[in-house]
Amino acid sequence: MDATTAPSAQKQHLIDPEICIRCNTCEETCPVDAITHDDNNYVVDAEKCNFCLDCISPCPTGSIDNWRIVATPYSIEDQFGWEELPAQEELAGTGEGGEAEDDEAARLIAEAHAGSGGKSVAPASASKPTINLYNRSRPAIATVTGNFRLTDPAADNDVRHIILDFGDVTFPVLEGQSIGIIPPGTDASGKPHVIRLYSVASSRDGERPKHNNLALTVKREAQGLCSNYLCDLKKGDKVQVTGPFGATFLMPDDPSANIIMICTGTGSAPFRGFTERRRRTMRDAPGRMMIYFGARRPEELPYFGPLQKVPDGLLRKHFAYSRVPNEPKTYVQDRMRATANEVSVFLKHEKTHVYICGLKGMEAGVDEAMADICRGSGMDWAQLRAAMRTQGRYHVETY
Ligand code: NAP
Repeated sequence: MDATTAPSAQKQHLIDPEICIRCNTCEETCPVDAITHDDNNYVVDAEKCNFCLDCISPCPTGSIDNWRIVATPYSIEDQFGWEELPAQEELAGTGEGGEAEDDEAARLIAEAHAGSGGKSVAPASASKPTINLYNRSRPAIATVTGNFRLTDPAADNDVRHIILDFGDVTFPVLEGQSIGIIPPGTDASGKPHVIRLYSVASSRDGERPKHNNLALTVKREAQGLCSNYLCDLKKGDKVQVTGPFGATFLMPDDPSANIIMICTGTGSAPFRGFTERRRRTMRDAPGRMMIYFGARRPEELPYFGPLQKVPDGLLRKHFAYSRVPNEPKTYVQDRMRATANEVSVFLKHEKTHVYICGLKGMEAGVDEAMADICRGSGMDWAQLRAAMRTQGRYHVETY
């Protein structure tokens, strides 16, 4: 406890109910059973939490990463009733309302997130997202209206474009948000299956404009319980959906914003949504869009055909193929280096946003490429990235 904090004050670990996707990961991870839940919220019992931080990095949303300095800890009953986190209370005697220690806690936790880059901030011009409208105990029921294979019949991977229609159920989403799918049935121990998250691959006004539907991009994984369930769905099937989720990985609504999108495989899903949004509503936007898209071969690249038809003026496309016979293995970061001039022109612009989505493993390689490109054109990537992050212009979503 630092000197600015009153003797009776203490740090309390809390979960942000607005961002939490109720995936149960934290409760499963906590070694001292300090995390519990009811139908409404996941909460931390202040009497049990020992600040081991084991729950922090597995949380897919960062909702676990919240702290308050309190005179009396919030009880779990208080937390069950929350719709949002309470503001930091003013504490008599601290002079700082506990902020010094709060900032310190945030810094320590950000350090514990090595590689994830710290707390995300939504673009300043992004629309306000709706989150957590539906949960496991009150899911939205969607009807499958389409399930199409996206990859070439000759491709090894079966990647599908699945359309879910919500009928007269309100389910508002923004490009970049995700939804949860509840796979039917229970696991070997009789517990309901864990909810899986998928990015929305369509734009906010629907997969088909003005329809209350959305699209997902799903790759069939050999042992994947939920991916096989989704990939096998037939038209007319009903699906239980939770969410929407995600309050920061959102596109700027400002038409003069430039957008660099870097993705591998199905990590392209949110970028299809971004591109559709610009195509439908800001076709002549002064802001530029550019994508670096990695796949093993053209046949494996989701949306390869339709992407070819998107004009270069709307979307500048760079493909990176890692397994084309007789061609060198190329990753997105290699394509970025090969087109360093284009990247640096974007990065020098104060209205440029960077989005990275896909395999966790790509993050380090992309970061090194960015650093090299910046070095070659008189910029410091570490400084630029930090500034872009706090300005809501740098976003990473990798699994
Ligand atoms: P994938 O087919 O396994 O890989 C796509 C490409 O990335 C391949 O060319 C692969 O090359 C390359 N790659 C592998 N390691 C790399 C690295 N370290 N740096 C750069 N490129 C690398 O991709 P996928 O199975 O579709 O995986 C996509 C990821 O996106 C998954 O982790 C998924 O969870 C995530 N995601 C999915 C959604 C969704 O809505 N479905 C949304 C957001 C994110 P090689 O295999 O030849 O090495």
